[in-house]
Amino acid sequence: MIPSQFYQRYGSEENCIEFLYSIYKDSVRVCSHCKCEILKWYAERAHWRCTCCKKKITLKSISFMRDSKVSFRQWTEVIFLLLETKKTLSIAEIHRLTGMKRYGTVFYMVHKIRVELGRLNKKEFLDKSSILPIDKKMKVEPVNLPEYLNIRYGKEVNHTLDKIYLIVPYNWKLNSSLEQLQKICCVGYRYKKVLKNSLSTFRGRQFERRKLEQKWSSNLSGNLIREIEGIYHNISPLHFQKVLDEYCFKYNYRHSRKGKFLSFFYLISGKG
Ligand SMILES: [Zn+2]
Repeated sequence: MIPSQFYQRYGSEENCIEFLYSIYKDSVRVCSHCKCEILKWYAERAHWRCTCCKKKITLKSISFMRDSKVSFRQWTEVIFLLLETKKTLSIAEIHRLTGMKRYGTVFYMVHKIRVELGRLNKKEFLDKSSILPIDKKMKVEPVNLPEYLNIRYGKEVNHTLDKIYLIVPYNWKLNSSLEQLQKICCVGYRYKKVLKNSLSTFRGRQFERRKLEQKWSSNLSGNLIREIEGIYHNISPLHFQKVLDEYCFKYNYRHSRKGKFLSFFYLISGKG
């Protein structure tokens, strides 16, 4: 999808609500309070109302966009800019393009989306695992990267394209990460929720060492390094897994006919 098509289809709040309703409607079947099955949808307010107990279920509360005051149009735009552009954009660039007021809000949104991408990546059918060496010669300081990444990979039945899931090594900067985490939690860090993912990678397991095909392996790590270097000066170990999650999702859906933006939503709805 090119930007003009995107802004034509998803340029208004109404269109975005209609689109997101189509994605999430099947996940709201009964009232969470009284289990009543008759729920009425109010498009202009983006919520359902239970016809029995009148409980309100908002579209935002059942999605990964919960706990934010940002409009659906802005969420949709940030997802589009993050996933569908040919060249990966930095959070600062997305902030500039959306014209949103606060950088912190965009930062939080991007990280929430990456957490969601990580959840989707984990669901992929990947039956092989190995380690992906990071070519030291390609490393340009000050970007700090581990010596290697854990990788799970495989092909779906009847699919010719490989899919990957890159995982930060268990012990990479573990001590400094935990220290940083402790500090952050002490000062009342605003975006604690997006750190959940970083914590789980610390508990990751060791991977067997199958040998990767040399050319594929060096292309993969080369592309990753180039992409990272174009954007980051330094990557916090607390956020590195989320950066990888974005990279893997884009890699896995690189030739998707639907495009990455729609693939993302179809996967969320379980229709992917
Ligand atoms: Zn009810």
